[in-house]
Amino acid sequence: MKFTDLGLAEPLLRAIADQGYDTPTPIQAQAIPAVLQGGDLLAGAQTGTGKTAGFTLPMLQRLSSEPAKKDAKGRIVIRALILTPTRELAAQVEESVRTYGKYLKLTSMVMFGGVGMQPQINALRRGVDILVATPGRLLDHHQQGTLDLSHVQIFVLDEADRMLDMGFIHDIKKVLAIVPAKKQSLLFSATFSDEIKTLADRLLNSPALIEVARRNQTAETIAQKVHPVGREKKKALLSHLIKSGNWHQVLVFTRMKHGANRLAEFLNDEGISAMAIHGNKSQGARTKALADFKANELQVLVATDIAARGIDIDQLPHVVNFELPNVPEDYVHRIGRTGRAGAQGEAISLVCVDEDIFLRDIEKLIKRSIPSEVIAGFEPPAGEKAEPIVLGRMTIGVGGTRRNAGGGFGGGRPGGGGGGGGRSGGGGGGQGRRDGGQGGGRPAAAGGG
Ligand code: AMP
Repeated sequence: MKFTDLGLAEPLLRAIADQGYDTPTPIQAQAIPAVLQGGDLLAGAQTGTGKTAGFTLPMLQRLSSEPAKKDAKGRIVIRALILTPTRELAAQVEESVRTYGKYLKLTSMVMFGGVGMQPQINALRRGVDILVATPGRLLDHHQQGTLDLSHVQIFVLDEADRMLDMGFIHDIKKVLAIVPAKKQSLLFSATFSDEIKTLADRLLNSPALIEVARRNQTAETIAQKVHPVGREKKKALLSHLIKSGNWHQVLVFTRMKHGANRLAEFLNDEGISAMAIHGNKSQGARTKALADFKANELQVLVATDIAARGIDIDQLPHVVNFELPNVPEDYVHRIGRTGRAGAQGEAISLVCVDEDIFLRDIEKLIKRSIPSEVIAGFEPPAGEKAEPIVLGRMTIGVGGTRRNAGGGFGGGRPGGGGGGGGRSGGGGGGQGRRDGGQGGGRPAAAGGG
């Protein structure tokens, strides 16, 4: 199967060829013809499967086959709306729209919180065919009357499961009430909880069903390895691995924001260029870090799970779990950043005795044991005892799960986790608050939100 077999128009095929792709991924091979036919779609696919092109390409084709629509003032109206959970994903999806639509006359725009409204208002005034947005800022614009969604013909919910995880269900419902009832709707999700099924029932009309590379199965192209390590030797081991292997473009995961900062500082002191990205960083800092990392000018990017959502870098060679996630599904998401679209990748986990319980949960989930290799000089000291792990206001691990009395060291502001609260407060930075609450927003680390 080649892209030329899918019924795509020449300008799209040319843009695909420019990217160096000639064979569609399984999700693309199935989704493109289905979307071109005009029906709704329910697709089970996670990041790394090529899902973005799977909906972007047929959407561009459908939109370009009709002339742009204009409102009473002669302004181009929004005909396609793509909702994503995070700013990073929104930016990347819109980049894909531009990449694949570069030989078409369609206009697109990305919209998210944490940045000024006025430039977005100006861009809307100039006219946009395709809008990629996070829900909070989209609703802000709607409330201010700066956004007209009454002409939307194609509606895409990307990473719907993560949107629900992040507490966006109320926002999604509000958006659904604003867009026209008659439209083509596409829902992409890595998992299918009852909540997602309810949402799909509400949104979709006899959708085509596509499922590829089920979640919780880690791709065969990813080599996974565990390095058991002494608790106090983790940082030194990471530095040793990066230096001795001459690793570049290393994505390192920590559980908490402050841990990400401290690790980036340590690596910089070791002469390894590193930056941390997480919800507390300004949008500018995050964008710059990601751009430098993509350009191979930054050796290491240290990220928390939520900040890393939607990071899309081709053929990322190394993913390191500096700390294992306490939510086993996050492991699958994390290592999905490497070995994508057929490229070889390596996922390394540095595991100290405190995290053995997390490792067991992960191996249970992925239904295989991960090969383990001790690196001489960094082995766990004989008799090292497991200690509880502090996550915001909780401690987990030894002795089961229990609440920590004080604010903990990661919790920061009260209610910082609040993943389930829908839209809290007004004002500009709505989006930033939501994807900032590392740890507390996840179900297993049930903060007080
Ligand atoms: P996604 O799942 O949409 O995040 O895409 C994962 C990665 O695969 C992106 O970096 C794409 O550029 C890349 N990709 C998408 N389609 C193809 C393809 N047909 N062949 C090779 N790589 C692809």
